[in-house]
Amino acid sequence: MNHRLSEILFEKALQFIPGGVNSPVRAFRAVGGKPFFTQKAAGCKIWDVDGNEYIDYVGTWGPAIHGHSHPRIIKAVCDTAQMGTSFGIPNPLEVEMAELVRKMVPSVEKVRMCNSGTEATMSAIRLARGFTGREKIIKFEGCYHGHADSLLVKAGSGALTFGHPDSAGVPPAFVQHTLLAPFNDLEAVKNLFYANPGQIAAIILEPVPGNSGVFIPQSGFLEGLRKLTEEFGSLLIFDEVMTGFRLASGGAQERFNIKPDLSCFGKIIGGGLPVGAFGGRSDIMNCLAPLGPVYQAGTLSGNPLAMAAGIASLELLTETDAFRRLETMGALWEEGMKSIAKDNHIPVRLNRVGSMFCVYFTESPVANLSDAMKSDRERFARYFHLMLEEGIYLAPSQFEAGFLSTAHTEEDIEKTLEAASAAFKKL
Ligand SMILES: *Cc1c(COP(=O)(O)O)cnc(C)c1O
Repeated sequence: MNHRLSEILFEKALQFIPGGVNSPVRAFRAVGGKPFFTQKAAGCKIWDVDGNEYIDYVGTWGPAIHGHSHPRIIKAVCDTAQMGTSFGIPNPLEVEMAELVRKMVPSVEKVRMCNSGTEATMSAIRLARGFTGREKIIKFEGCYHGHADSLLVKAGSGALTFGHPDSAGVPPAFVQHTLLAPFNDLEAVKNLFYANPGQIAAIILEPVPGNSGVFIPQSGFLEGLRKLTEEFGSLLIFDEVMTGFRLASGGAQERFNIKPDLSCFGKIIGGGLPVGAFGGRSDIMNCLAPLGPVYQAGTLSGNPLAMAAGIASLELLTETDAFRRLETMGALWEEGMKSIAKDNHIPVRLNRVGSMFCVYFTESPVANLSDAMKSDRERFARYFHLMLEEGIYLAPSQFEAGFLSTAHTEEDIEKTLEAASAAFKKL
């Protein structure tokens, strides 16, 4: 594969952009090498500026559940842009979006739109603190909730990939109210509640963590968190920025049948445009300004282009058999990968929930961050590059999830498995 133009662009980018990228994981640091620059993307394919074609399993880090450039989403954005790109006063699409979210995710009685997942979790936590009058929150090791100060403790995604799960520039005082527990460890959470009586505003978690690879909640874990928060008067916040509208039309909370008090969204809800949202019980949401004392705002929140793209994306999910299809493709991939690993005597752990998956190069089960850290990251880096060379684009880190879209076909999965089979022989 020739990457001449990508290399020239990256050289130039390095001069003007820190690390050459606008979000750290894109720099390929965890796997070595240099990123390719994208010319265009359609369906499950990406083409780089040198004309190379890839089958894409990153899906712009989650939003592209219908594949790239879905005609209906493109049309919605173009049609809406004809009327203006931002108003800063209410527009009808905001109401349509709110109604749609409530219909798809029944725990969300009221919703507020913002511009990224980071804003959604940051605001949901402020709201939880304002509502309960308590200061502390519990988060789980390896869960990533965006880059707000108080949440950058043992965070996943780029923070983990670069070995700085705790960021410089965050004063200890800003994170002193953030308590940590290992994922899938109900006992640890219980102990935090006993040790901090009447002080815990909320538990925030990714119900299926997808920012340290993929962890699967063990049976009883999510139910246990729901019970504990009720017992101790705390709120349960599901960060469904990744899982929302991906694991079911109602997200992980539908799939695992748990009703959180607040939910955060991003990624799919914007259909590829910059959007976040948080919502939940109306008695809690009514504490937000202008009704209540918890301040939250955004110049571009509810942006018409973003609403149009998001609505099209969500409607497509409800009108098609998307989830059945994603499950079928996911199972096909998993079966194939299992037998490839077995045939080549390479220990792997395949963690998959629907269209979210991860291949950990380790023998032992992966249920939390310390398990994930046991995986052979050098082997992953070799696997990543061998796949890329065959035109399969996986997330450039062991600690990221892969995503299927409804645009992936049986043929794409077969091609991917053929590439994996060849790659595993060289690992
Ligand atoms: C991506 C992600 C975020 C952050 O969203 P941004 O739009 O990147 O700010 C927060 N939480 C989870 C679970 C995510 O996957």
